[in-house]
Amino acid sequence: MNKPPVTSKNIKITKSLYTAWISGFFFPLHEKLKKHTSVIMRRQLEESQWWDNARLQDLQLTKLRDFLIHVQTHVLYYRHLFLEIGFDPVNVHSLADLTSLPFLTKSVIRRNIGGLKSDSARYLTRYNTGGSSGEPLVFFIGKGRTSHDIAAKWRATRWWGVDIGDPEIVIWGSPIELGAQDRLRNLRDRMMRTKLLPAFEMSEQKIDGFLAEIRAKRPRMLFGYPSALSHIARYAKTHGIRMDDLGIQAAFVTSERLYDDQRQQISTVFNCPVANGYGGRDAGFIAHECPEGGMHISAEDIIVEIIDAQGTPLPPGESGEIVVTHLATHDFPFIRYKTGDMGILHDKPCACGRGLPLIREIQGRSTDFVVAQDGTVMHGLALIYILRDLPQIEAFKIIQESLNETHIYLVTKTTLDQQVRLQIERAFKARLGHAVTIVIKQVAHIPAEKSGKFRYVVSKVADR
Ligand SMILES: [Zn+2]
Repeated sequence: MNKPPVTSKNIKITKSLYTAWISGFFFPLHEKLKKHTSVIMRRQLEESQWWDNARLQDLQLTKLRDFLIHVQTHVLYYRHLFLEIGFDPVNVHSLADLTSLPFLTKSVIRRNIGGLKSDSARYLTRYNTGGSSGEPLVFFIGKGRTSHDIAAKWRATRWWGVDIGDPEIVIWGSPIELGAQDRLRNLRDRMMRTKLLPAFEMSEQKIDGFLAEIRAKRPRMLFGYPSALSHIARYAKTHGIRMDDLGIQAAFVTSERLYDDQRQQISTVFNCPVANGYGGRDAGFIAHECPEGGMHISAEDIIVEIIDAQGTPLPPGESGEIVVTHLATHDFPFIRYKTGDMGILHDKPCACGRGLPLIREIQGRSTDFVVAQDGTVMHGLALIYILRDLPQIEAFKIIQESLNETHIYLVTKTTLDQQVRLQIERAFKARLGHAVTIVIKQVAHIPAEKSGKFRYVVSKVADR
């Protein structure tokens, strides 16, 4: 059963009444109550996506200048920095002026967490991420930025002929405990017809259950890590479980590098196109793929630079580190933020006709699966989460050497005491098996891979 290839032209949003109600009424109300401006923002983004490059750059420049003036007035860290280097945002007349500002790194954020908060910020939410470099990072997000990220994701969802409110299966990490907050969220998810399946543990029995749930729900969209979706797809294929007759319109993947064989596998088994997204909690909703295959930058609020190892900006076509300025981060600015990911800017227009600039070949976002002693395959995040919330740990890397032995490399502020070591060991054994040897090694720093990429979980057991 093969469908014709999906393009922006032949996509029709065939919405059910229920989806129209969720997308047009319930979700906008939800957003309003949360003090988000994503509804109006999405409408604006759906217009500006068709603007040409020059007009989009004009918009970026105006927004950049206003943003930097706000930051100068309200953010202590930048007020001092601008004074120190003699930078006045009023004089910003081209996007290139941005390059006179230093990069924002994770260690700068760590050292200046208080000074980076705007004195006019209200409703800041604290986040904690492993980030793509594997170093835990705490930072804050305000309503303006959340609204942008929701609106940009919403717009990208609609590129694929689906909308908020359409039945969706999400395969993702999930909190273990259910608090009152989560019960509310569950209710909202039921209204929005979103069902979460936890990706941490993927025993055969669990995957059988997942496949049965997907068959029963007949979602119009899937959302998950590429590694998780392709793992499930491969299992379905090997066991002859048919998943291509469910009417799934698109499989959205994000958070990791998407490999060609994964795309192929997901697309064949679920009989739908795979839509790749790039971004993170830290850097925001940076780019998303359209049906023609272009990875479009959310350029209305995100300026992407590619830099070489010396920090010099590179022209389109050359590979370097992705640096992001998020223009909706007034409350906790991300200006020239080094993502640690590698990519290439692309200056050709996309066949879909959208003027949003393109980025290609995003590399360096691998989180692998690990395998427990009893054969349970689980997402590497299950182990990352153990380490990332410990305040003593500055950086880490986990290497699963064999089914019987896993090594943890830690960079810590002080020598780890025995209690914390035991705590880590116990948590790892709970996931990998009680007979597994856990070796904890404290090191001065953690080197990158030969390729220059950084992976915080490497399994020599799991095939990808
Ligand atoms: Zn496109």
